[in-house]
Amino acid sequence: MKFNTQTISAIQQLLAADFEQQLGRGAIRPDEIEQALRDGLQEVGQKSYGEMLSMLDEHSYLVEERCECEQIGKRVSRREAQVLTVFGWAQYKRSYYHCRNCGRRWIPLDESQHLRPGRSTRLMSSLLGIAGVSVAFEEAGQQIWRYLQVEVSPNTIRQETQGLGERQARQERIWQERSQDLGYLQQREQAPERPKRCYGSLDGVFVPIEQEWKEAKLISWYQAGERYPRKEQHAQAIYHYPSLEDAATFGELVWATAVKHQVDQAQELIFVCDGAAWIWKLVEHYFPQAVQIVDWYHACQYLYPVAEALFDPPEQQAAWVTEMKAFLWEGDVESVIKTAKKLLPRAGPPAERLVTYYTNNQERMRYAAFRAAGYLIGSGTVESGCKQVVGLRLKRCGATWSHAGASATAKARAAWLSGSWDSLLDLPWAA
Ligand SMILES: [Zn+2]
Repeated sequence: MKFNTQTISAIQQLLAADFEQQLGRGAIRPDEIEQALRDGLQEVGQKSYGEMLSMLDEHSYLVEERCECEQIGKRVSRREAQVLTVFGWAQYKRSYYHCRNCGRRWIPLDESQHLRPGRSTRLMSSLLGIAGVSVAFEEAGQQIWRYLQVEVSPNTIRQETQGLGERQARQERIWQERSQDLGYLQQREQAPERPKRCYGSLDGVFVPIEQEWKEAKLISWYQAGERYPRKEQHAQAIYHYPSLEDAATFGELVWATAVKHQVDQAQELIFVCDGAAWIWKLVEHYFPQAVQIVDWYHACQYLYPVAEALFDPPEQQAAWVTEMKAFLWEGDVESVIKTAKKLLPRAGPPAERLVTYYTNNQERMRYAAFRAAGYLIGSGTVESGCKQVVGLRLKRCGATWSHAGASATAKARAAWLSGSWDSLLDLPWAA
């Protein structure tokens, strides 16, 4: 719906006339005008919204209301309620029905319009959620106050944000059931569109939960695209799914989201990850056909401590790292391992760690071949993904999380960062 241009224009003229009168009494600054307009329009919004909801209810009263048992219901009263809108709390009245046949009582307006008395509207819920996934709940409350001039407690923001995360979790459970349903998977196999080349990255980050550090795990699915105007490849259409569960349960989520995004059917599937053992185990179990690549960024991280152990001057450290990186880049991981082995007596544990890691991951570090095939070899996608999705929001100083709260907040944040916020808002509320 849209309001009539003449109505808007009439309101504008009324405000202008009011302004003109006040202007006669003394100087007014532009920012006073802006604030007064903001206050006034907010009040108009708040009152109009409530009134219009009541009108919706009156209007639907003209149609007879049937109970679930098919009996015609009787309107017994009209009761007041309030919902939190972007203008603040709005009061409205709606009809309360009773069924003489089965004794059921219900409020058709609230039920049919998904209104939640005492809670936020869909739009307000979306805004509170965006603030809640972005910053600490206290700060989110201050931001909402600044943006909307509506006072919302940190607790309400927590509730809304985590409510959205719980909805996401329910959605994931449905995907999970489907992904284990052989009938569903077979029927899906006839789907004509197979994605060409898909990427997956897995990572973990430790977050403080119930006075302990627990590992949050993340799967990110993405595809490669070219960035304009330079034709360099970068990750796009990125979907993040975090989990606080153990590796096996997380594996089920990885599989479920793979099925959801048809990643398992891709002509080519490439995993770019850090080298943690649980990650490759999971990849091998669910996607034995996939190409495995150790993230270029992670691989290079092993060089710096060795360089620091060998040389004092930073220039010499940098020169050595550059030399080793060149070997890696050309796919000659063996030369780096050989060099590090020779340096063992001088460089000690850092060289030892490098030798172990590179030896275990040799086949996943064929960077020349990967580059020739046109693969992304490590954009740091999941590195920044885990930091962005989980770390930045959950690892704040002094933050203490419950398991359920951390999980729901991370899931809501992932939906926001994956661009699936609006579809999350369309999911049904908790029963
Ligand atoms: Zn009934």
